[in-house]
Amino acid sequence: MANCVTNLTCIHCGATFPGANLKTAEATWMVCPRCGPMDGILDVGYDLERVQAAWRKNPLQDRPRNQWRYEELLPLEPDAIRREWSDGYTPIIDTPRLARRLGVQQIVLKDEGRNPTGSFKDRSSAVGVTHALQVGATTIACASTGNAASSLAGHAALAGLPAYIFVPQTAPEPKVAQLQVFGAFVFAVKSSYDEAYDLCTKACREFGWYNRNCAINPVLVEGKKTAGLEIAEQSAGFGGVPDWVAVSVGDGCTIAGIWKGLKQMHELGVIDRLPRLLAVQADDVNPIQYAMEHNELPTQPTGKTIADSIDVRVPRNWRKAVNAIRDSAGTLVTASDDAILDAMRLTGRHGVFAEPAAAAAMAGVVSAIEAKVIGQQERVLVMITGSGLKDTKNAIRAAGRPIEVAPTVAAVAASLPK
Ligand SMILES: *Cc1c(COP(=O)(O)O)cnc(C)c1O
Repeated sequence: MANCVTNLTCIHCGATFPGANLKTAEATWMVCPRCGPMDGILDVGYDLERVQAAWRKNPLQDRPRNQWRYEELLPLEPDAIRREWSDGYTPIIDTPRLARRLGVQQIVLKDEGRNPTGSFKDRSSAVGVTHALQVGATTIACASTGNAASSLAGHAALAGLPAYIFVPQTAPEPKVAQLQVFGAFVFAVKSSYDEAYDLCTKACREFGWYNRNCAINPVLVEGKKTAGLEIAEQSAGFGGVPDWVAVSVGDGCTIAGIWKGLKQMHELGVIDRLPRLLAVQADDVNPIQYAMEHNELPTQPTGKTIADSIDVRVPRNWRKAVNAIRDSAGTLVTASDDAILDAMRLTGRHGVFAEPAAAAAMAGVVSAIEAKVIGQQERVLVMITGSGLKDTKNAIRAAGRPIEVAPTVAAVAASLPK
């Protein structure tokens, strides 16, 4: 099997470049020379007829239950793929009690917390580290609010590749603990994620490190895409393509990647229609909402949210995200920190432990149902992008502490709820 990459296309002006560029380390830096790094992000194109032919010969249902099952749709050489890595193919969990409670037809949760290091980011890190090895990189780096960092550190450790990582000093401790245990070299930047990102970019250029940052590197988002491929493939198991896919949005690569995967599966004939995207940001950190209205980013972004993974004031992939939301006839809603804490409890009470940014997608669904954006007869898939174990401080904040009890039955009896 081989990948079916054809070319790279600028998402802004449509200029194309040969796909063979991806075989070199420079590919990770490539942007459209005319449009520059904020606008001219490149998108990997594929020959879908060749993909179809490969899938007829070797059907998806016979393949391993991880994201490598879609290898023809990844920009990697077959020999480079680390087939023992188990990223992706996460379960989709139907929650009929939750659907009844919220008054809609169906709610299903795609539990990305089950990826190897506990978040959606494992998909792109597995692809990024594989590509780094393929092009002969000797070090890899990224800036991250936390999850991209810990997943990169985990995969770099599996591969024996040194990793340099930039996180904001405020990143939740469990994510930082993962980084330390995986043996990454960690810079806790005394500033926001947005500045950590700029610093990482400069350091990569200065020291010649492979840059794992999703926003520019066209390879990385292809890993994120696998979640969209999966939603399409798995939809037969829960009543067909949902009406809505809810995703929380920081930089915007996740929602854009998922949309790309869904569209490819539509073009490949695996699904016969497409869902609408419900993008969710925090009330106070909502630059993509601004961009939806104004076609540009706010010039003086401010604000904060407890949902650290979407605490992004300068989203690097805002154009891709806005295009995806519009293209899907979707919409964007925001959620307050209190609504996010409520959604952590709500999601947990139905069996899935979500970190704040993951619960934000659920909070968005709750408010979209209240606002009748999502109708009673509709079916919703919520991307639970990261495990609640990633941020135990906010989990305790959402759900409280246990009651303390002396080791006697009498004490238990006295403490039982009335
Ligand atoms: C990174 C992340 C997001 C948002 O992804 P973007 O590509 O930054 O939009 C959402 N939830 C979690 C848990 C994440 O780690």
